[in-house]
Amino acid sequence: MFMMKNKLNGFQKSSTPRFETIKKTNVAGNKVSGRNSLFSPLKKKSVCIQSSISESFLPQIVDAQNISSMSTKNEASASVGSTPYSGEFECETGNYHTFCPISCVSWLYQKIEDSFFLVIGTKTCGYFLQNALGVMIFAEPRYAMAELEESDISAQLNDYKELKRLCLQIKQDRNPSVIVWIGTCTTEIIKMDLEGMAPTLEAEIGIPIVVARANGLDYAFTQGEDTVLAAMAQKCPERTSPQLEFLAQSSVTEILESYSSTSTNTQIEKASPTPISHNSGEESLTTKIPSTKELVLFGSLPSTIANQLQLELKRQGINVSGWLPSARYADLPALGENVYVCGINPFLSRTATSLMRRRKCKLISAPFPIGPDGTRAWVEKICNVFGVKPEGLEERESMIWSNLKESIEFIKGKSVFFMGDNLLEISLARFLIRCGMTVYEIGIPYMDKRFQAGELALLHKTCIEMKVPFPRIVEKPDNYYQIQRIKELKPDLVITGMAHANPLEARGITTKWSVELTFSQIHGFSYAKDLLDIIIKPMRRNKNLEKNNTLSRTFVDS
Ligand code: SF4
Repeated sequence: MFMMKNKLNGFQKSSTPRFETIKKTNVAGNKVSGRNSLFSPLKKKSVCIQSSISESFLPQIVDAQNISSMSTKNEASASVGSTPYSGEFECETGNYHTFCPISCVSWLYQKIEDSFFLVIGTKTCGYFLQNALGVMIFAEPRYAMAELEESDISAQLNDYKELKRLCLQIKQDRNPSVIVWIGTCTTEIIKMDLEGMAPTLEAEIGIPIVVARANGLDYAFTQGEDTVLAAMAQKCPERTSPQLEFLAQSSVTEILESYSSTSTNTQIEKASPTPISHNSGEESLTTKIPSTKELVLFGSLPSTIANQLQLELKRQGINVSGWLPSARYADLPALGENVYVCGINPFLSRTATSLMRRRKCKLISAPFPIGPDGTRAWVEKICNVFGVKPEGLEERESMIWSNLKESIEFIKGKSVFFMGDNLLEISLARFLIRCGMTVYEIGIPYMDKRFQAGELALLHKTCIEMKVPFPRIVEKPDNYYQIQRIKELKPDLVITGMAHANPLEARGITTKWSVELTFSQIHGFSYAKDLLDIIIKPMRRNKNLEKNNTLSRTFVDS
């Protein structure tokens, strides 16, 4: 029989902060990076070269703006790294020591305020969630664990009846607007037909059910969010043609008035394909008849950052018509052929595919709004697609860079190595190269070359402008070989998953947990300083420790 466990009836309270709890668990249970296996002699291993970035982009992808055609100060004089990026990168077949993607529940249940997440799995998943989400003890969690037992797995019980019982209990206790079923490794392996059961059950209980298979079989833990958003995209309402909607909502007089004004404003309509200035002060035709282009952003961000990104676009005269996910289920954006979609995180490739293929939206292939350079390129790309000439962006970017001067001085010339964990690696590497750091290697658990095309192009452009070679990109890196490379290269900082952080620190290598970058506020112009602080903190800490040790040694010696 399924057992539902949550904070109220199963999970124990813990006063240990989440990161601390996970850290201990991982280091203690670390198989690969045991002391003896670290830094043993480098073995040769063959690597396969992946094919270059696919040229056959799907038609729905808005033709990527040629990043190199953007204003480039040093492009003409760039000599190092000026070979066009071939799109080639190495692929190893290493293990992915990543967090389980069901951890996405921890931030998604907070983002979608009227949701309830039901994770359907075994005790292992329950223990993982209990540890990973331990920090949420003071909140009323809107998630629970449907724990499968032997009788469920051996199909002696009726899955449908069990899930119905649990969902009715959830409805009675919490009455959410949507229930999200999170499948796990077990439901995958026993082939539980969650998608088949959900439509019948949601009709019976009267609450929509979203089925997301965010299990440990994925490459990176951030793909959990991607899976949930891809599933949720199916629940978004259909966008009817704006013209038809306008006609349906307007009275005959309004329609006649709008047509007469159309005839006097034909020049505005004709001018619309070319860039228009939003500051002209003229009331454009779009205020009378809804624009045929709508913008929906996808990716889960705290509302403060989401509002800031929205404001950046508003400054350029572009309105965001919705977010996926929205804070409330009823506010999910309408999707359809005239809707342009743009992602804010590089790990959302499934959502992008789902929006293009199943909801017929047009994907804006842009770099991601991480760092002042990425944010500017992101806004510029959206403006470009919407036929708007961006204004004041260059000045805004320069201002942010000048505010970062002190921090940049500290990291300039230092080196960084990405072991690969959360799929944010390319964006972060591009930002750090712009800050003057040397990136030895970008390990990444999985690379969707089409979805990251804009970001890869910006990385290439950044390398040209900063006159540095294009860094090595390794997909599915083998951690064992990476550790040998780290030993040889001796980077100033290694950005890594939690499994390897403590063993590396014990060997005198400064590390930063990549998971911290996933949960911190790093998007947009305003949070560039916070992002840089996260990177600098461990280097400063170790430098101070070294200084203190030297001081205390001097004191003892004297
Ligand atoms: S979904 Fe799989 S990997 Fe994740 S906690 Fe459950 S059993 Fe482990």
